[in-house]
Amino acid sequence: MDKFVLLNKRIIDFNNKSKYSSGEYVLYWVQSGLRINFNFSLNFAINQANRLNQPLLVYFALKENNLPTLRQYEFLKQGLINFKMNLERIGVNFFVEKINGFNQLLNVAKKASIVVCDFGYLKGQKKLRDFLKQNLNQAFYQVENDNCFPEAILSKKYTFAFQLRRQIFDKIPYLIDNFHLFEIKNKQKIFNQSIIDIEREFSRLNLDNNVRLLNFKGGEDEGLKILKSFIKNRLSYYKNYHSDPGKDFQSNLSPYLHFGFISAQMIVCEILKNFSLKDENVISFFNELLVWRELARNFVYFNRDYDNWKNLPLWAIKTLDRHQNDQRFYNYQLQVLEKGETQDKFWNAAQKELLITGKMHGYMRMYWAKKVIEWAKNWRQAYQWLVYLNNKYELDGRDPNGYLGIAWSFGQFDRPWKERNIFGMIRYMSAQGLERKFDMESYLNKIKFIKSDK
Ligand code: FAD
Repeated sequence: MDKFVLLNKRIIDFNNKSKYSSGEYVLYWVQSGLRINFNFSLNFAINQANRLNQPLLVYFALKENNLPTLRQYEFLKQGLINFKMNLERIGVNFFVEKINGFNQLLNVAKKASIVVCDFGYLKGQKKLRDFLKQNLNQAFYQVENDNCFPEAILSKKYTFAFQLRRQIFDKIPYLIDNFHLFEIKNKQKIFNQSIIDIEREFSRLNLDNNVRLLNFKGGEDEGLKILKSFIKNRLSYYKNYHSDPGKDFQSNLSPYLHFGFISAQMIVCEILKNFSLKDENVISFFNELLVWRELARNFVYFNRDYDNWKNLPLWAIKTLDRHQNDQRFYNYQLQVLEKGETQDKFWNAAQKELLITGKMHGYMRMYWAKKVIEWAKNWRQAYQWLVYLNNKYELDGRDPNGYLGIAWSFGQFDRPWKERNIFGMIRYMSAQGLERKFDMESYLNKIKFIKSDK
């Protein structure tokens, strides 16, 4: 398998309209590839523009209510401004427009010779692609830009991570290839949108201003800085310490991956410039970045119910139902959970970390979800609340990883464990377990001192 085959496996021709209509430009309607490095969709679009000797327009449709709060919109805005500056450097046009309905996007697409978009895994993204498919006469391509192994992920459904692990680790060496961004030939300016214009488009949104962005700055350049610092300072300790919530050895790349500010394949390439694929820390990190992350894409791709309890395996549904009426020792309302005001100091700290920083530590996310199962009126209610809280506050929320993480907490991709109250045979986690494994006082202290502007 060489680089070229892999690149071709990323491209889906939506309508076989290979005869180009004579539009004004080639359009890359970008949703999740807000970067110039390792952006396969952008590269494909540049290639098409060069073939037609036309300029390329990269267009971002800014939709109200697509993201939950100011936090995510602010992060996105910073990323779009950074993307604009990077695109300008290479002679590509960029336009951000607040849209009220899909027709505005359609109008921009109708003026194009060819339309290119990123791959859409989630329901809303698919709906938008279907709309364009039905209404466009132009050639329309979708290019997978998000995962490293599209062939494996899109070909069949996996039920356990181990089924994917071996294949992925065997194929990692094929990812090590420098990505060469094509140079655009026709650098004609189509629109003259300034950063102030982008700011203005955002100011027209009606947002929930209560949830602010504090600890992260959006954009490709920032994502690359974080990657560099991770490789230099933290990766060598990843295997032993990344699970420990009191320490800070995760990469913190998930928000950047989620918004497409950085590519997983680029992360792999950068790491392997400095480390061997046999290094235990690299193996441990790739197990998360490649195996679990790719599995999440596979999960949402093959499960229409990825965002609700109906995706769960039958054994999990049965065992949870059998314990549906077990007595709950604590029974909290959503508002109490949302504020982090339960009797459990570790859970409250995790929720506070989420509320303030927009990113909860990975190990605490598992504990956080398990406790909501224990405290909600019933497990279906817990499922709904977790999706709501995760999507509202996490900067990396609304991602296949989040849907998989929540499903996993209810038994998906896991095995049955010893039967117990409320959980049945679903894996259980306790505060004592946390204390046995980690110095939880240092986690509590860390959270106590995180900055909040309130
Ligand atoms: P690192 O440890 O540095 O890992 C590097 C990358 O590997 C991550 O950025 C992520 O892309 C991937 N990764 C790590 N762990 C997982 C995992 N368990 N599943 C899939 N991919 C993984 N991840 C999100 O990106 N968005 C979410 O909304 C989200 N919600 C979660 C909810 C629950 C209940 C659980 C149990 C997990 C959730 N995760 C989610 C997965 C995981 O906790 C985060 O990806 C991770 O903590 C992000 O921090 P990091 O980038 O510093 O991780």
